[in-house]
Amino acid sequence: ARGALLVGLVGAGIGPSLSPALHEGEARRLGLRYRYRRIDLADWALPPEAVGDVLAITREAGYRGLNITHPCKQAVLPHLDELSADAAALGAVNTVVFESGRAIGHNTDWYGFTRGLAVGLPGAGLDSVVQLGAGGAGAAVAHGLLTAGAGTVRIFDLDADRRDALVESLRSRFGAPRATAGHADGLAAAVGAADGLVHATPTGMAEHPGLPLPADLLRRDLWVAEVVYRPLDTALVTAARARGCRVLDGGRMFAYQAAAGFKLFTGEDPDVDRMLSHFDHL
Ligand code: NAD
Repeated sequence: ARGALLVGLVGAGIGPSLSPALHEGEARRLGLRYRYRRIDLADWALPPEAVGDVLAITREAGYRGLNITHPCKQAVLPHLDELSADAAALGAVNTVVFESGRAIGHNTDWYGFTRGLAVGLPGAGLDSVVQLGAGGAGAAVAHGLLTAGAGTVRIFDLDADRRDALVESLRSRFGAPRATAGHADGLAAAVGAADGLVHATPTGMAEHPGLPLPADLLRRDLWVAEVVYRPLDTALVTAARARGCRVLDGGRMFAYQAAAGFKLFTGEDPDVDRMLSHFDHL
């Protein structure tokens, strides 16, 4: 190949993102020439809709593709020529590949979560799962849980409209009995009857410290999966471990979604365990 494969990450406030180091580190180990650039809309005070211009410019400049992150995962949809079935079902795209001049949208977030759950918490019971958070990550994770065969997912969110919209969308795809809306006063009973708890709100990040639910709901035989990955050891992860729960931190979802994107961009199979341990050391 003459030049390096060019890839970018588009979003707002992505300065601290670990994706460039994770992708470029793996490419180096595979002997690929690969450049992964940040394209931060916040640097130019641009709105999410500007992702369309970024797509046009990067396509023209010969980029192989883009990862798309907050707040552009939905804003990018009108600018794509084609969507994978999963991205269409989710209505969100985190990976765009330029293929013979066409921009094709994919979503690897849900796969990242599902694969991470299978590898990180093998044998976890999926009959009944409680999920906190119905935003972008929550939509991907619930899709992943139901695709992986979860019996029912009960969804809680402070924003009742967001919760109901996600439940409605899941029901249309997976059948009405498999997704239900939880109400705050029913959280303790729902968690008490569940096999596992998935956390998909920003609680636990530096800007949103604390626990998303009372620690005494974390019983020993409940598995707990966290999507927050900055930091890896959130208050929830720490509290759940202290109570003897099997715990999956947000790192695996992140590493597996990155690995799936890397494969789409390069056609090469990355070593996910190597990416995961690289991620742990970043
Ligand atoms: P978002 O803003 O789209 O959605 C968050 C939702 O959580 C909102 O609907 C909000 O109403 C709800 N919420 C907030 N606090 C709550 C609480 N205490 N109880 C119930 N609901 C509450 O955010 P997002 O894009 O879904 O991101 C959520 C988190 O997931 C972020 O920390 C993000 O970094 C992380 N994430 C991780 C990965 C990964 O690969 N590990 C991928 C995507 C996102």
